[in-house]
Amino acid sequence: MATAAAGGRRRRVLFFPLPYQGHINPMFQLAGLLHARGFSITVFHARFNAPDASAHPAYDFVSVPDDGMPADSPDTVQATMDHILAVNRACEAPFRERLAALLERQRARAEDVACLVADSHLLTLLGVARGLGVPTLALRMGSAACFRCLTAFPMLCDKGYLPVQESSQLDAPVVELPPYRICDLPSSAAAHGQLREVLSRVVTAVTTSSGLILDTFDALEADELAALRRNLAVPVFDVGPLHKLSPAASSSLLRQDRGCLDWLDGQPPASVLYVSFGSLASVSASDLVETAWGIANSGRPFLWVLRPGLVRGAPPSSISLPDGFDAATRGRGVVVSWAPQEEVLAHPAVGGFWTHCGWNSTLEGVCAGVPMLCRPFFGDQMGNARYVDHVWRTGVTIDGELQRGKVEAAISTLMGAGEPGAGMRRRALELKNSAAASIGEAGSSSVNVDMLVSLIQSM
Ligand code: UDP
Repeated sequence: MATAAAGGRRRRVLFFPLPYQGHINPMFQLAGLLHARGFSITVFHARFNAPDASAHPAYDFVSVPDDGMPADSPDTVQATMDHILAVNRACEAPFRERLAALLERQRARAEDVACLVADSHLLTLLGVARGLGVPTLALRMGSAACFRCLTAFPMLCDKGYLPVQESSQLDAPVVELPPYRICDLPSSAAAHGQLREVLSRVVTAVTTSSGLILDTFDALEADELAALRRNLAVPVFDVGPLHKLSPAASSSLLRQDRGCLDWLDGQPPASVLYVSFGSLASVSASDLVETAWGIANSGRPFLWVLRPGLVRGAPPSSISLPDGFDAATRGRGVVVSWAPQEEVLAHPAVGGFWTHCGWNSTLEGVCAGVPMLCRPFFGDQMGNARYVDHVWRTGVTIDGELQRGKVEAAISTLMGAGEPGAGMRRRALELKNSAAASIGEAGSSSVNVDMLVSLIQSM
């Protein structure tokens, strides 16, 4: 096993996550992994969604002022682009200053900085580090398929797939990038030009770094990883599932309601539908009503995460469920504002996962061997759902307008005794086993972690 001590010097790895839950978690998991291999860790972070330093006493933290950042988390592609550019703009100068000061201090210690691992969306900050002589590694939160799609984005535009011209084209296949259809691609009618520019900068941020780190594993995306390795000039390290390799890292921005685990303990095996749409997606009031009645009418036990701010136009702190929902589901379900999701998914009582298909949630569902009901919202989520229902065939997608009847039918397909649900569950278990194998001794991700550690040691 490669460790930081291999060259006799103590090495420090710097991290800078993008300040969203789904990006902070894997970065801390990777930090935990490298810390366990003997590296010292410094986490730079924006003040927006700042991580809790007290949960990681072994790490140093450097808070970087982010004046001028929008206060709300984004829930559309356009808002996400604006947010990402704002983080880069706001943090550039203060990050340069703080990194230069840290490098100065390190010179006086018997420790040196090996590299910066930063989110691939921190386009400017990766450049700042390299400008100060610090090598960079880009961590991308997303699938290999998704990154492949980003590298192909100019081609997709040149061939007329994007921007989408007519809704009748949405189901057309993207012949150069199977299994995607046009509707599975990240797109924004309102901000196509900006999206194209940001994605091209993300690809440049990766290709000008010393390597790309992906939270995925070979058996899940063998062809996609092989294609990336053929086409990228930088090494690709698929080291996932990171949450399984480094499970102890606690980086939740919201307080997790652990009481739901006790409730799960009292439920029959594989009986509960777990429903969560992640940390950013928002739903309309009418979709909330259809979701609620679909869940109620399914007759199944459920655990539903209603995050503050989930419903557009509703006060963030109080989400009202439709009249009659409580009575219809009494004794059969639990609603929480935030759950310990990894533990919930790993609980034997959970038999189905209704997810928005954020990459972390998708991967966590895969590793738990739980079949998924997919309802993607934006960005890479449609592409992830496409892999769940079409490639891995471990779930179903609810397309189009959300209606309670469709929800009820999808839950019944997913969790019902016969086919096709039984096949989905079987394949989900096979994927769970390959995820475990990938991080076992000589597993593909374990080998990649060793290669990553050796690379960092040599930087
Ligand atoms: N999560 C959680 N509790 C919840 C819902 C989500 O801890 O109640 C975690 C989940 O385990 C995942 C992250 O939040 O690691 C969400 O990331 P994802 O990429 O799935 O979606 P995003 O929030 O970025 O849309």
